Amino acid sequence: MRNILKYINFILIILIVFSFEACKEKQTNEVSVFPIEADAIRAEIETSPITAGKSEDAADDPAIWINKADPAQSLIVGSNKKAGINLYNLSGQELFFIDAGSINNVDLRYGFDLNGTKVDLVGGSNRTHNSISLFFIDGVNNQLLTAHSKTIVSDVDVVYGFCMYQSKQSGNFYAFVNGKNGYIEQWLLEATENDMVDAQKVRTINVDTQPEGMVADDELGFLYVGEENKGVWKFNAEPDASSEKTFLAMSDESNPAIEYDIEGMAILYQPKGKGYLFVSSQGNNSYAVFARENNNQYLTSFAIEDGEIDAVDGTDGLDITHFALNETFPAGCLIVQDGHNYDGDTLLSQNFKLVDFRKIAWLLAPEQELNYSYNPFSGF
Ligand code: CA
Ligand code: CA
Ligand code: CA
Ligand code: CA
Ligand code: CA
Repeated sequence: MRNILKYINFILIILIVFSFEACKEKQTNEVSVFPIEADAIRAEIETSPITAGKSEDAADDPAIWINKADPAQSLIVGSNKKAGINLYNLSGQELFFIDAGSINNVDLRYGFDLNGTKVDLVGGSNRTHNSISLFFIDGVNNQLLTAHSKTIVSDVDVVYGFCMYQSKQSGNFYAFVNGKNGYIEQWLLEATENDMVDAQKVRTINVDTQPEGMVADDELGFLYVGEENKGVWKFNAEPDASSEKTFLAMSDESNPAIEYDIEGMAILYQPKGKGYLFVSSQGNNSYAVFARENNNQYLTSFAIEDGEIDAVDGTDGLDITHFALNETFPAGCLIVQDGHNYDGDTLLSQNFKLVDFRKIAWLLAPEQELNYSYNPFSGF
């Protein structure tokens, strides 16, 4: 009997050790999700319509905030350029609205050092005050709290595009804002003594005609700027860098897949400097994809077609993430503004559409598993 008990004990220990090892392995394994071949790319989810007239161009730019503790509770930040900023959950339900003024473009960054406390920041270009507005993200109560210590007034002639950047070199956080006149200002964000955020202008660069969409590559230190009727420019994003810029080949109308305006831009990060740059080609209701690496080779274009949720046209802003969010978005999602939001034949106010990234991954790399856990943000 004692021998049998000893034997059972031994087996139990083996089982425990084995399952512990298996568990460990599961935890350290990277999430791998294969691309999905779809006959067309359609939206899975749409947000509730924004508060605006049905024919008003009011929704503009989305940004995805990943809730690290519970990715299924991640938030969509969406600008209403007539009124303020909305927060939505991943089902598209509106959770919050802040009456912040005419916020055109929005962006966000993780882990800003507020006198020893790490906070996540949302920023936006505010046409009401020709300024930069900053907010703390409160992901527990799903709200935005004003973060700018005073009105951060820009000198550009009517603020338009906006994005944020965290330097790998210095760890500093920056806001970029551009104006109708082609000027692009870079502002250093700094915590104030009373735990708010202030900004000082550190650099001005420019393009020739009206820009809007912008995105910064934190890891490689680049700023991409969309000149609406020209194409995409690439600058060094460091404040002390030269103002030289390079033009992305095939980001203009020499590429039959592109029709102006060039609008929103977002980066999908992959390891080793690889990944994708997404650009809204507003004039033909499509999205152009460029390689993130080297000379940003043009790769492909796609559109979001009619399905259970209506097709997308005239996209202004967009954002993309490769992180697993929930069952609907196990490999992240693309979120885009929709120029005309229909329910059947009925036109509603504008909204944002969300697409399962696996369907886009199939267009980009059908044979290849992308990396869905790679973290490019130092403050994340
Ligand atoms: Ca528009
Ligand atoms: Ca525009
Ligand atoms: Ca716009
Ligand atoms: Ca639509
Ligand atoms: Ca709809």
